Amino acid sequence: MKDENLYSLLASGFPADLDAVCIEAPGAGDYTWRDVQTQTARMANLLRSLDLPEGARVAVHVEKSPEALLLYLATLRAGYVYLPLNTAYQESEVDYFLGDAEPSVVVCASKNREWVGRCAQRAGTGHVYTLDDDRTGTLLDAAAQASPEHEVAVRAADDLAAILYTSGTTGRSKGAMLTHGNLASNARVLHEYWGWRADDVLLHMLPIFHVHGLFVAAHGALLAGAKMIWLPKLDVAAALRLLPRCTVMMGVPTYYVRLLAEPAFGRDTCRNMRLFVSGSAPLLMETFNAFRERTGHTILERYGMSETVMLVSNPYDPALGERLGGTVGQPLPGVSARVVDDAGAACPPGEIGNIQVKGPNVFKGYWRMPEKTREEFTPDGWFKTGDVGRWGGESGGARVPDGYLSIVGRSKDLIISGGFNVYPKEIESFLDDMPGVEESAVIGVPHPDFGEAVMAVVVPKPGANLDEAAMIAELKARIANFKVPKRIHVVSELPRNTMGKVQKNVLRQTYA
Ligand code: AMP
Repeated sequence: MKDENLYSLLASGFPADLDAVCIEAPGAGDYTWRDVQTQTARMANLLRSLDLPEGARVAVHVEKSPEALLLYLATLRAGYVYLPLNTAYQESEVDYFLGDAEPSVVVCASKNREWVGRCAQRAGTGHVYTLDDDRTGTLLDAAAQASPEHEVAVRAADDLAAILYTSGTTGRSKGAMLTHGNLASNARVLHEYWGWRADDVLLHMLPIFHVHGLFVAAHGALLAGAKMIWLPKLDVAAALRLLPRCTVMMGVPTYYVRLLAEPAFGRDTCRNMRLFVSGSAPLLMETFNAFRERTGHTILERYGMSETVMLVSNPYDPALGERLGGTVGQPLPGVSARVVDDAGAACPPGEIGNIQVKGPNVFKGYWRMPEKTREEFTPDGWFKTGDVGRWGGESGGARVPDGYLSIVGRSKDLIISGGFNVYPKEIESFLDDMPGVEESAVIGVPHPDFGEAVMAVVVPKPGANLDEAAMIAELKARIANFKVPKRIHVVSELPRNTMGKVQKNVLRQTYA
């Protein structure tokens, strides 16, 4: 792997015309490629002037703004390690992250300066700056004094570029250490695989404290020298207005559901689009089909995680195959994926097992957790993703080619009832197909006889009345009794995190 700073790779894609617009932020103005270069140089010089130790972490807990992206790029440029934090995190959570990561610099919103400052002090952080989403903050004031010329710090492929804390639905959240090489290899592969072009326009509505918005979406546009239209978050009305000027959009499944809920959303809105990407959580077959029918576009679903960036993707190029709903596609070039049973033997197509992966994109390990890191790799170097899935099999009643991977769920969500394995996704698919069901989540709850009992939580379609007994009777007629939920709870919505993932841990607590 070539040694280079990831920033240099991204900058190699910037267009020759530096006065072209890189980021168009409605309401906040335009940022040219020259602005990106000079602002990141100033911020990098500011960081450099602080005399931080090698490998210093820069922790960032700010609202999404173009400046927040520039701070990320500046941290790369200066050769330090970027550590984004979800702005939903409160004091006890930020305390844990800062205590664990011991950053040298913390940047936060001015409204949180007091309590984040307390966390920083407890963590021994020497420098605290503020950055707000209206182009103000002490970080920008200080950077304005720094030189706009900066030579990118030399970094080896194996040097850390970022630490992403996993969402940690069980146990302590772990810091996934990603190197310049990990991120650069993935950026290069996705650039080719998804056919990024300089004349693309990306609608960017994802948060940037997460792999999807920060690495997949932003890296893609930057490396292509393509413009981004930058919204602070999902805004359906703005999306309807802006999409006709865009060619690429990336979203979590909820974004697609919300767009489809707008009668005005249709072919005309998408007239210039070439690519819709979905990931971070499973895209329902119903959404995949409804989207194709309404817009004529086939959503491309892909699979990845904080520890690995992107792993598997449905094809963009039709010569490589069809985009199949209910599957995440084929391993990306350079990535190896396998499905194995608990003893480590390869599962034949159609059989469900543990997904393990290898590749230049796979992280270096968990921050200050060498034991945990060792546990999560096999002796021959495969990373255990914690997801279960299968090659081939069936999706939406059609046969899936053997080279396509489908995700069945997280292994910790697997239910063992009376000694039998129950895969929640299978039951959820049956429930979702029932008339009147919008979506569902199947969980295991403690049971005196069976160890765990299967339980379902369903959301009805607007105006639908669901009959628990009738649904259970229908399931009994279609699947083995041990898989049939003992109870079906009807709720108005499922608990989700910001990335659209259903929080099964919350459901398990509620219904235990
Ligand atoms: P994160 O580290 O927050 O990006 O979460 C990664 C996890 O999200 C993966 O391990 C999967 O469980 C899940 N995930 C990501 N993409 C998909 C997808 N397309 N379908 C189903 N689950 C997904």
